[in-house]
Amino acid sequence: MKIITSIAEWRSIRSQLRNRSIGFVPTMGYLHAGHLSLFQQAKQESDIVIGSIFVNPLQFGVNEDFSTYPRDLERDVKWLEEMDVDYVFAPSVEEMYPSPISTLVSVKNITEMLCGASRPGHFDGVATVVLKLFQIIQPDFAYFGLKDAQQVAVINQMVYDLNVPVQIRPCPILREKDGLAMSSRNVYLSAEERDEATILYKTLQWAKEQIEAGLRDTERLEKGLLEQLKNSPLANVDYAEIRHYPDLQKKKQIEGQVLIALAVRIGKTRLIDNVILEIK
Ligand code: AMP
Repeated sequence: MKIITSIAEWRSIRSQLRNRSIGFVPTMGYLHAGHLSLFQQAKQESDIVIGSIFVNPLQFGVNEDFSTYPRDLERDVKWLEEMDVDYVFAPSVEEMYPSPISTLVSVKNITEMLCGASRPGHFDGVATVVLKLFQIIQPDFAYFGLKDAQQVAVINQMVYDLNVPVQIRPCPILREKDGLAMSSRNVYLSAEERDEATILYKTLQWAKEQIEAGLRDTERLEKGLLEQLKNSPLANVDYAEIRHYPDLQKKKQIEGQVLIALAVRIGKTRLIDNVILEIK
């Protein structure tokens, strides 16, 4: 496996790989099994697999955890090497942003709600860095986890609107045995908080059961989500919403493809989770 830190170096390698299909997995590192599942999927359909490890300052708000975000490049590299990944692109912030950026990619209509509402500017930062990475890596396929369902919607919209020649592959959420969605941020949780963090999954399961039993009223379901989350004394709700997916519009009565999305602070750690259901 080759580790690349310079854009110029990758461009020169990329020009030699003309006839090979390239699968790309963008990450912020501190890898876990959820990330590795994306690499596994990439390996199944691409000749060459490249992952990026880059904690993107542009997508963090001023009071967010950019400086404390967990990082362990050595361990990440070891894992990816064991998985037979071909290349890791791990640029510095200076390599990606040599001077203050003047161009932003801003996807409208699906970024004003959910994480976009609580993290102003976040999705501009995401869309901009992902487009930059696509321009640099020039992959055929790119793999994204549905753990970040709104992010998948935003990237799909950007690729569609700007005719970016990359096929987006959404991948399922990987969970711990007790249902907690895997996340790099789970390391922030104390033992007690880690136990309480299962409230997100339990709440999603509750909603799924209600919908399977025939409940369709968005307001009643959302009230129920808040009630369920009250079962954890440590849970501080950022949002608990049900929206049509992927356009993220709210409907009075749910129908079609539906996203149940939660963002909950457990102590100081903000966790997100979701489930997507198809209502027949
Ligand atoms: P991150 O490093 O958090 O930016 O995540 C990199 C990619 O891994 C994103 O596409 C995430 O959606 C995906 N990802 C993170 N956690 C999980 C998980 N538990 N299951 C599946 N994919 C995940």
